[in-house]
Amino acid sequence: MNYDALPEGFSLYRNIDLNTDKVKTGMQVAAFVALLALIIPAAIVLPPWRTQAFVPITWMSGVYFLLFLAVSVFGYLLLHELVHGICFRVFGGGKARYGHQLPNYLYAASDRYIAKSRYLFIGLAPLVVLTILFGVVCVLVPQSWFWIPYFALAANVAGCAGDVYVCLFVLPRLPKDALVLDSGVAMQIFSREVA
Ligand SMILES: [Zn+2]
Repeated sequence: MNYDALPEGFSLYRNIDLNTDKVKTGMQVAAFVALLALIIPAAIVLPPWRTQAFVPITWMSGVYFLLFLAVSVFGYLLLHELVHGICFRVFGGGKARYGHQLPNYLYAASDRYIAKSRYLFIGLAPLVVLTILFGVVCVLVPQSWFWIPYFALAANVAGCAGDVYVCLFVLPRLPKDALVLDSGVAMQIFSREVA
């Protein structure tokens, strides 16, 4: 169940802070490892410098390529938050808010108290949905353009480090009745149990 207001008997169980040095470092290492794990094998199979796109026939095709690359690598950030936002509506049952703490990050947030089992879908959706979406685009585009959607795919997977940490390592250890309030910059957990 999800709620507009905190139900009776529930109180703050835990704050989830992803900005502590320890968590931040762990996520950065995980993101870096994920990025290498995706980029290196693909670069061995299809070296970017051998694809036509990296050896522009004309000066203009080089410019287009860099432009598309920039759009895909930054565009994935918007798509990532949009997927969270849509899922806040579908699984959280309420509108999402969007915001930013630029230059650090963009976020989608909700004012609803969301059951942890449902929050799993919201948290992991960008990883699943965008990996499939960018994967399909990788297959559909000419090989010379492969690296554009693939960079976006790899950047998104790496950028999901925080989502994966929360959904796979934090949420499963919380009480069954835990409710998640995700304000985008911070997460609060509420439960009938006392921490
Ligand atoms: Zn996310």
